[in-house]
Amino acid sequence: MHAIRFHEHGGTDVLRYEEVPDPVPASGEALVRVRACALNHLDLWQRRGLQRVTIPLPHISGSDVAGEVVGGDAETGLRVMLQPGLSCGRCAACLDGRDNECPRYDILGYRTDGGYAELVKVPVRNLVAIPPSVGFVEAAAFPLTFLTAWHMLVTRARVRPGDEVLILAAGSGVGQAAVQVAALHGARVMATGGSPEKLEQARRLGAAEVIDHHTQNVSDEVKRLTNRRGVDIVVEHVGKATWDASLRSLAPGGRLVTCGATTGPDVSVDLRFVFSRQLSLLGSYMGTKGELHAAARFFFAGRLKPVIDRAVPLSDAAAAQQHLEEQRHFGKIVLEC
Ligand SMILES: [Zn+2]
Repeated sequence: MHAIRFHEHGGTDVLRYEEVPDPVPASGEALVRVRACALNHLDLWQRRGLQRVTIPLPHISGSDVAGEVVGGDAETGLRVMLQPGLSCGRCAACLDGRDNECPRYDILGYRTDGGYAELVKVPVRNLVAIPPSVGFVEAAAFPLTFLTAWHMLVTRARVRPGDEVLILAAGSGVGQAAVQVAALHGARVMATGGSPEKLEQARRLGAAEVIDHHTQNVSDEVKRLTNRRGVDIVVEHVGKATWDASLRSLAPGGRLVTCGATTGPDVSVDLRFVFSRQLSLLGSYMGTKGELHAAARFFFAGRLKPVIDRAVPLSDAAAAQQHLEEQRHFGKIVLEC
């Protein structure tokens, strides 16, 4: 098959479009012909090299995949999108439905070969059948970001109708998913973005209020928009650059839920502020297989829609990653093959 691999860490120039051996599915696995694979920031970090995680080389990235079953232990021809979370299926966390807490948890394409390829193998429990009305490109753009946003808002922060929710960087993959998931649950959404176009798109996805983080002070705007009360939930994934403003934006009893730190992980917290205002700081990592099925029902019914920035051929993966790095996209960048 053809695949995009890197044999060493570095810039986008290490990505090679080349012929590689087909993956061979083991018992309990399916072989999937990849039709579309969406990019994630994870792909960039692992290509550059990670401090604490060793990626087996050469490596095929790609965590968000849609395609057709062509072999292994599943029905041939089945149109599917893939659960990106890999877990043992046998431990207490897995059996309790919290597979993203599995000690052996991994992400498709992280330390295993992923979907920047014509074929990928996955456990059959990672297959999610998609209806004929859903295309491969939009199906590939759905799993990782919507699973992450669902777990953050619904499971960790327990969003309720009427909650006021601040969502950072609504143009990012997680941001555009979180705006929709929060609005779906009846929250009043405030979204930040770095350009008038991104703010307009955030409104179209369901944000009631938008804040330009380049020209406006985010926490001041939140206070103004909430009559000085602050928001019930902040959806954080930016880290160092936004952390202080995120904490300052919380109402008493507010929940800050974070799934990432794209601008850096070192932040400080004034504990007096946390206990006196009874704040909750919640970590969130991916989501469970059950949560993806729950979110997918709304996707298939047209009530959650992944935003596609662009779809390009698999062989153009390097240019696609460059585009993601430059942060001018709104929504997901998808490889087609
Ligand atoms: Zn497990």
